[in-house]
Amino acid sequence: MDRKASRIAIIGAGPCGLSQMLAFVKAEATGVQIPEIVCFEKQEDWGGLWNFSWQTGIDKFGESVHSSMYRHLWINGPKECYEFPDYTFDKHFSKPVPSYLTREAFREYILGRVKESNLRRFILFNNAVRLVEFDQEKDQFKVRVEDLASGKHRIYLFDYVIVATGHFSTPHVPDFEGIERFTGRVLHSHDFRDAEQFAGLNLLIVGGSYSAEDIALQSYKFGAKSIIISYRTKPIGFNWPKGIEEVPILMHIEDNIAHFKDGSQRKVDVIVLCTGYQHHFPFIPDTLRLFTSNRQYPSQLYKGMLFQDQPRLIYLGMQNQFFSLTLFDAQAWYARDVILRRIRIPELEERTIDIAKWKARESLITSPLEGVDFQASYMEELMDSTDCTPFNVKGVVALLKGWEHDKKEDILGYRDKTFTSPITGTRSVAPSVLWINAKSQAK
Ligand code: FAD
Ligand code: NAP
Ligand code: MG
Repeated sequence: MDRKASRIAIIGAGPCGLSQMLAFVKAEATGVQIPEIVCFEKQEDWGGLWNFSWQTGIDKFGESVHSSMYRHLWINGPKECYEFPDYTFDKHFSKPVPSYLTREAFREYILGRVKESNLRRFILFNNAVRLVEFDQEKDQFKVRVEDLASGKHRIYLFDYVIVATGHFSTPHVPDFEGIERFTGRVLHSHDFRDAEQFAGLNLLIVGGSYSAEDIALQSYKFGAKSIIISYRTKPIGFNWPKGIEEVPILMHIEDNIAHFKDGSQRKVDVIVLCTGYQHHFPFIPDTLRLFTSNRQYPSQLYKGMLFQDQPRLIYLGMQNQFFSLTLFDAQAWYARDVILRRIRIPELEERTIDIAKWKARESLITSPLEGVDFQASYMEELMDSTDCTPFNVKGVVALLKGWEHDKKEDILGYRDKTFTSPITGTRSVAPSVLWINAKSQAK
């Protein structure tokens, strides 16, 4: 653990990878010598999921398309919940803007922060990591990378590997009896790009979380004839407008008739599986791989980041996210300070006890509101150990709790609300067009 860190690999230049590079650059600006960093990014640009792609399936290199975003996506929590304390919305936009930003505006904000930090010098774009192995003899990671343009493979050696490849890109696609004979269209939310094509159609959405909710709303807004949301565990439970209805889980399909657990049935034209994503790391062997569902505290990660059996392998952003951007910063600063040996990693036993403590606390979470509190405590613990810019986490918790309430009150109007930034005190402005009427094409 106390070897000199000389070479760091970062896999992925999405929000997590960018936070990680920036954390090092900020230390460098204070005169600290930073290790050599190489970031491998399989896309041709940075931004991760926020790089919208019209493509679905595979891209020009035969890689699976990373983005799961769609044309008319807006952020689904107020921007004030995600604000970087060291790069505020005031700084980026120079004037108050609405709380719920479009996908493009949010992407510009994330990238605006890093543009002046010369991070591109670290990144090899169009480079996909194929295999990460630990070489016991050399005491280093061997990383096999494919340059997608040339098809050539190269091996690099690193002292630390940071996995920042996200976990909302590989669809989880459950099977339903009779679906193979369904005469309509079936797609997963990963491949959903816009709802205009659903105008006049009867939609079945399977799933009970954020994708199900927002794709139902998109489809409603763009004129679907009817929308059924079929949940497995519990209904989403909002006060849906006429035209959206929740039913228990889909049991089987006969031709174009969907049969649900409560015995009801519906004729449907399109099925959208909003059944979540897999943590998928095809480039990592079993012994180093994180196996987890989308949850608050994956079991194999000390401090929610350092792989228990090999803490020089670091996974960023693998939790389900309430905070997102500031959570990624808290982790990136912590990872940096572990690598710079400002933070001491305890022995295995002590790490195991710490993981057990967080897992016990995670097991007490019974609602999204409790999930918010959990994630806030987790972030605060990380931030206390580093010089990551402190901010009013409790203020953001209050916003997140209010957000859950707003959605209960008005699911079609919650994105029109305005908020005050807990960081700058700036009040956002109302959107010029209400969310329900905003249908213009985004870039
Ligand atoms: P990603 O953004 O997924 O980036 C990972 C990067 O790794 C990608 O650039 C990818 O190309 C690269 N990569 C993957 N595999 C390899 C490989 N083998 N080799 C090289 N590079 C590789 N968050 C919010 O805060 N607000 C929202 O409103 C919001 N909306 C969302 C909507 C949808 C539909 C989805 C799916 C997610 C949304 N999120 C939202 C959450 C999102 O996860 C985060 O905002 C953020 O993008 C996560 O950053 P990341 O860096 O962990 O992963
Ligand atoms: P998710 O939150 O992980 O939810 C997955 C859903 O799939 C759960 O409701 C789960 O049901 C359901 N499911 C899994 N297997 C199933 C099965 N066999 N049958 C029926 N249902 C099944 O994934 P997500 O909803 O795709 O959200 C992913 C991320 O994208 C989140 O961070 C979210 O915030 C983000 N997002 C944002 C926007 C936006 O508007 N900005 C839009 C969409 C998504 P159970 O509850 O029963 O487990
Ligand atoms: Mg601190």
